Amino acid sequence: MATASAEKGSSPIRTCLGCRQRKTQQKLWRFAVDKNGRVMKDFRGKHDGRHAYCCQDNSCLQKFFKNKKGLSRAFRQQVLGFDEGLEDLFGSEQ
Ligand SMILES: [Zn+2]
Repeated sequence: MATASAEKGSSPIRTCLGCRQRKTQQKLWRFAVDKNGRVMKDFRGKHDGRHAYCCQDNSCLQKFFKNKKGLSRAFRQQVLGFDEGLEDLFGSEQ
């Protein structure tokens, strides 16, 4: 019987705040927010609390950054800006 074994051993599913697709956590970048409302990378899971996720894809990231409402909802706190390091994700674009 192979019933209900699909989930076994798989990583958690998260929603990308850029395109809203659901993917395994491994395929997404993870972000956290500090107490000043600044969003930062949290690729190693150092930060406690809530996280937001985005595909490892430039077009998704663009939408992700514009989706401050969605981010604020995901973090349950107002998002005021982004950490400078986040620009690295875009390369030298813009
Ligand atoms: Zn996406």
